[in-house]
Amino acid sequence: MKSHSVNATQFLKNEDRANWHDQTLWYVRQKRDSATQSIPEWESLRERASQIKDHVLSNLAYYLLQFEKNAFVNGVFVHWAKNATEFNKIILQIAIDNNAKNIVKSKSMLTEECGLNNFLEENGLEVVDTDLGERIIQFRKEAPSHIVLPAIHLKKEEIGQLFHEKLHTAKNNSDPEYLTNAARKHLRQKFLNADIAITGVNFALADTGTIVVCTNEGNADMGVHAAPVQIHCMGIEKLLPGSDELAVFIRMLARSATGQPITTYTSHYRKPKPNGQMHVVLVDNGRSERLQQETYKDTLKCIRCGACMNTCPVYRRSGGHSYNYVIPGPIGSILAPGTNMKKYQDLPFASSLCGSCSDVCPVKIDIHQLLYQWRQDISEKKITSPMKRYLMKMVGFILAQNYLYNFFGKFARFGLKYFPRLLIYNKLNVWGKERELPAVPDSSFKEWYIKKH
Ligand code: SF4
Repeated sequence: MKSHSVNATQFLKNEDRANWHDQTLWYVRQKRDSATQSIPEWESLRERASQIKDHVLSNLAYYLLQFEKNAFVNGVFVHWAKNATEFNKIILQIAIDNNAKNIVKSKSMLTEECGLNNFLEENGLEVVDTDLGERIIQFRKEAPSHIVLPAIHLKKEEIGQLFHEKLHTAKNNSDPEYLTNAARKHLRQKFLNADIAITGVNFALADTGTIVVCTNEGNADMGVHAAPVQIHCMGIEKLLPGSDELAVFIRMLARSATGQPITTYTSHYRKPKPNGQMHVVLVDNGRSERLQQETYKDTLKCIRCGACMNTCPVYRRSGGHSYNYVIPGPIGSILAPGTNMKKYQDLPFASSLCGSCSDVCPVKIDIHQLLYQWRQDISEKKITSPMKRYLMKMVGFILAQNYLYNFFGKFARFGLKYFPRLLIYNKLNVWGKERELPAVPDSSFKEWYIKKH
């Protein structure tokens, strides 16, 4: 597997794409800022949201059982999956029991996490993602590059070409309205033929056994209403005590994600339709273990709004696919090493640690501190590259010795001023590849301070 930096270098080769990717996401971040500034109590809402999540995570077993009991009373089948394998098997079994062949699915990062599409397709089922962005990347056999805007890495011209190949739209027509209508027509038929509709879950209310799904396209509702069997898939951390708590999160989710006051559809599902079936699958897949990790348990508070990605300078300029993990960006970089520290050892280092992610997070996860903590954990386990370990040791030694620090400071100031350019801006200086170092001062701060006082 290629590292984040190698993938990012590849992404940056297309300068034009890197620039508009950066600008588009920054535009979304600015929309988020305006939306949050319109709510004077935004900061207290964040605090409240964080406290609600703390409370639920501390009483998770209680709320899970309460949810199960109430959902059962509503006529819902509740399933429990320990891991991705169990989860995939449960969905397949529901399909077999209902003699189902065609499945429509609205956006769910959990199904991405568990590799559900591939598993069902290998077992002879058709799975169609109905969120427009998800359908686009499904056609391209790609993973989402963003958790809210899955096809944000693509230009409308590329989508025009893709739809021409897959949906036989007119060649070179990349008008968004035209392409959206083509997708609508194509998906309408899939909805009508579906035997099962699968959705993700944004929130689940324990006191009534209700599932809440937020979409902008209404595709979750279309699927659930048209198909006889509906399945809602949720990580066990999605629970809230009830609708009072939900109100806090509904005010925050869309504002943080896209700068909208609310998603176009905020659908509540509680009971199966007449003659229909409603299933809820509660998935653990490592969440219980994370809950026991004092340092990292706060990552379970995440409501998958994507705000930390939109603001992150590294994400914006390296693209979601550079991360090689189902959830990219700052939150992905603290989730991924928890699943496999060795495999994802580079991700916590793919950050400037500027703290912007923590500032925008609606549930106040201290993302940059956790990134920093992962760096320490990974370094302690000695799984970083030998070169990095050696260099860090050397830098640590120099920084710990006053005389060495002073000497190398002087040496660097002299060298940067008088050494030939080739000696400084060469292949070994990766920082110098894309930027000029700042002008070198004549003296260090220490020398300046001593002189002045
Ligand atoms: S970590 Fe916070 S900002 Fe990032 S996706 Fe999760 S809730 Fe949103």
